Amino acid sequence: MAPRGKAIGMISGGLDSTLALALVRAQGVEVKAINFYTGFCITETQRRKGGRPDGTVPANEALRAAADLDVEIEYVDISGPAYLDMILAPRYGYGANANPCVDCRIFMMRRAREIMEREGADFVFTGEVLGQRPKSQRRDTLRVIERDAGLEGRLVRPLSARLLPETIPERDGLLDRARLLDLSGRSRLRQMALARELGLTSWPQPAGGCCFLTDEAFGAKFFDLLDGRAAAGEGRHLDNDDVVRLTAGRHFRLAPAVKLIVGRTEAENRVLEAYAGGRALLAAAVHAGPVALLEGSPGPEERRLAAAIVARYGKGKDLDSVEIEWREPDGVVERFAIPPLRDEALIERLRIPSGGGAR
Ligand code: SF4
Repeated sequence: MAPRGKAIGMISGGLDSTLALALVRAQGVEVKAINFYTGFCITETQRRKGGRPDGTVPANEALRAAADLDVEIEYVDISGPAYLDMILAPRYGYGANANPCVDCRIFMMRRAREIMEREGADFVFTGEVLGQRPKSQRRDTLRVIERDAGLEGRLVRPLSARLLPETIPERDGLLDRARLLDLSGRSRLRQMALARELGLTSWPQPAGGCCFLTDEAFGAKFFDLLDGRAAAGEGRHLDNDDVVRLTAGRHFRLAPAVKLIVGRTEAENRVLEAYAGGRALLAAAVHAGPVALLEGSPGPEERRLAAAIVARYGKGKDLDSVEIEWREPDGVVERFAIPPLRDEALIERLRIPSGGGAR
């Protein structure tokens, strides 16, 4: 049987988008799946850094879901200046943390529209469920996203379609509205029952739990970075290397325009060395310990504090003093001994987010 039209499915690999994909395919529509890489995906960042702290390497769930359902998938990398500009100034604001979900969805759906047009497809669909997320999946917001993405009438949410206005593919007979669903709200019981019916046995965390921008600690580091740049008179800016540094290490604010990042693992130490980007590099000269990056122009007190923190997280932390090697970006290297910082209350205060723990 010839397929009834073609659709572009935005797939995260989570339960909802996998079910949406199954529902559309069940109606004989040809599907091409797309999966977006924003630069803020937690599992993808872990994959690129060589795995989780426990040594396991997470799978790319979207690729797995597409393979399970035997669907072609295109991996779309949207990380880059335009996406970062959107994050710095989201028209519809931030959610609870640094997550501009409404603007982010519009950004992705504009790309999906371009792919739809390029592929000669008829519509785009997603796994969104009405009312499942407080802001980005409200009825009025779903409408705004569809309008601003230029997809009016061509954006189908198969899991909630019967609660939403009829779309062009339903009107044109590509999709039978009666075979789409009327799910709403946060309960996932019906999705799980449907998954069992379709023989789907495993799925990862719901979408959103895998994005650094929704993480409270990451959000604190993100806004602190922008505040620090403002304090240094640089204005609000962010690039992809900043994003990598935001996902690595313990972060300490030593002064309004001076910040220290201390690696927590060997992998993070390597990341910080690779992404020093004109920052001073600190490490214990003799004892094993972390690599740290210092951003800004420290005075004598901040230099002492930075070195003492680096000493505190290394193997020499119980010694009276530890020799620290301080490497400036111009190649000048200085060595000096410093007592490790043992004032845990001070460490807590300097940590971003404040009270982020002295681990
Ligand atoms: S959770 Fe992250 S990736 Fe998802 S819409 Fe929000 S900002 Fe975008």
